[in-house]
Amino acid sequence: HAKAAGRNNYAIFGEHMDELLRNRRRLENDLRSAVSTRSQLEVFYQPVFSTSGGTLCSLEALARWKHPTLGYISPDQFIPLAEEIGLIGEIGAFVLDDACKTMIALPDITIAVNSSAVELGSTDYARRVLTTLNKWRISPERLEIEMTETAATDNAGDLERTIAKLRTAGVRFAIDDFGTGYSSFSRVQKIEVDRVKIDKSFIDEMDRSDSRALVIAMIDMARAKGLKITAEGVETAEQRAALESLGCDDLQGFLLSRPLPRDAAVAFASRARLGATETKSGRA
Ligand code: C2E
Ligand code: MG
Ligand code: MG
Ligand code: MG
Repeated sequence: HAKAAGRNNYAIFGEHMDELLRNRRRLENDLRSAVSTRSQLEVFYQPVFSTSGGTLCSLEALARWKHPTLGYISPDQFIPLAEEIGLIGEIGAFVLDDACKTMIALPDITIAVNSSAVELGSTDYARRVLTTLNKWRISPERLEIEMTETAATDNAGDLERTIAKLRTAGVRFAIDDFGTGYSSFSRVQKIEVDRVKIDKSFIDEMDRSDSRALVIAMIDMARAKGLKITAEGVETAEQRAALESLGCDDLQGFLLSRPLPRDAAVAFASRARLGATETKSGRA
């Protein structure tokens, strides 16, 4: 009796596995064709604001995959898949190209792109990035590359040389999801970056005194190293006020703006810039 049940469970489990594998194969193939035709890939841009004066200072480019039947699939799902099946380089190149077009539309804005450890570890990544910037005649200072702590401390392949090459050319680097990696504080000492982005999970819990203490410690550490600090995932006015008073440089989150399609982001940024100019001339 028990044996029969066990066999039965196994059969169900096996069937379930088959289905998971089939879905995964399908998703892989769909991603391959999405990347090769590029028609389903998009880039959204989330505005980032400085705490001093609340001006728009940059945009973060975020990849989107609009699957024909499943709808939008989160980058948290398809980026790891793309890394595994060797498509991340092409996606990264697509996002960077799109970011360059956006920078041309918005001459005084900086754009941040996300880069995975797989890309940063590849030998020709630095050359490819600089070639793309050069192709669009964009000054490297206008590009910031975000990498997670894990990527930053992976030490895989040519990571260190890649970062050095790009930073020498003027490209800036940021540690993304700061605080979520393993032993952040000691490791971040070793890698040369310009900015840290405090992970949303800490911002979410800032009403708790222990989480707030962590945020303060992260800000102090970044300050001591001369790094800029962005808070990610700011959703409430309370969080904004607290982060401003703690000396955080920049804020990003749904409270300020969601990620927007390029046209909307360009319109948003142009309006923000116009607003800033009007305020300035109004004061003068
Ligand atoms: P990330 O780089 O940490 O980007 C921030 C994520 O938080 C984005 O999710 C953004 O939409 C979301 N977010 C921003 N503000 C808020 C907020 O106030 N509330 C909430 N709930 N969420 C907020 P998204 O676009 O889904 O991207 C997820 C992750 O996927 C990114 O995290 C990044 O690690 C990765 N990713 C996205 N695009 C690319 C890409 O082009 N290349 C690589 N390698 N990774 C990418
Ligand atoms: Mg990011
Ligand atoms: Mg992040
Ligand atoms: Mg993230």
